[in-house]
Order: sequence, then structure tokens, then C-alpha cells
Amino acid sequence: MSIDIFHMLSEDSRRRRAGREELLRAMGVKEYFIEGSVKIDSKICQGIECKLCIKACPTNALYWSYGRVNLVEELCVYCAACVLSCIVDDCIKVVRKRTDGKTESFSKPAEAIKLLQAISSKRRVNLVSRVFSVRSTFI
Ligand code: SF4
Ligand code: SF4
Repeated sequence: MSIDIFHMLSEDSRRRRAGREELLRAMGVKEYFIEGSVKIDSKICQGIECKLCIKACPTNALYWSYGRVNLVEELCVYCAACVLSCIVDDCIKVVRKRTDGKTESFSKPAEAIKLLQAISSKRRVNLVSRVFSVRSTFI
């Protein structure tokens, strides 16, 4: 009997994805990035005195064990809050894929701040155009 290794791998990733969705739903997390990755460079991490990323993580995906920061991949929503709080540039790297297929990556707090500013300006622009389009219907 032959074994279809590709089928087994895709079944495994489908099962992992379904498990992750269930876990996040149970935690009340409705919006998150489906695909991404997080890498922590334990060689430059100042975890013994720091652990700020663990405190900042909204889903408790990060934890301290065996003298280093570890990640529960299934709980990660690739929000980059850990990058924003990290005291060492390029220590944590978050890569995530948007629904339009674009890939973003963050490894410095400044990059995460730039993204947050872009989001809030976009929200402001949307709000202003919504308010003005509503008003113009009354003029
Ligand atoms: S990207 Fe967000 S959810 Fe994932 S480990 Fe960092 S802070 Fe936690
Ligand atoms: S915030 Fe950065 S330096 Fe601090 S524990 Fe986390 S990864 Fe290490």
C-alpha cells in the first residue's frame, strides 16, 4: 500500500488550522491574521531582566521556559504587539500575510509604530469621508 505523504501533510495543516480557529474563537478573538510566523532570536533576547513581550501579548501565546521566551504558535494572531514592546531591535520578527496576498514583516518597534500610525490615519480619512458623504446628502 502506498502512502500519500502530501495528502497527509495537507490534512495535518488543515487540522492544525481548524484547531487554532477553535481555540481563538473560545478566547473571544474574532479577527486575526491566518498566516504568519514569529521568530525570536534567543541570542540577543534580554529575557532574564525583560519579558515585556510576554506581558504585551494579547493571547498569552508567549511564555517563559528553560531560560528563554517560547511561543504557542496556535495562539499567535500575528498582531506584532511583541515587536512593539521589545527592547532589542531585530530580536522578534513577525511576518504575516494579508487577505490581499501582501506580506508584511516587523522586527523593530519603529516599524510597528509606523503601521499603527498608518492604520489610524486611514481610519481618520474613512471617518471624515463617511461624515462628509452623509452630510452632503442633506445639503
Ligand atoms: S504577534 Fe501578537 S499574538 Fe503573536 S506572539 Fe506577538 S504579541 Fe503574541
Ligand atoms: S521583549 Fe524582546 S528582549 Fe524582552 S524578553 Fe521579549 S524578546 Fe526578549
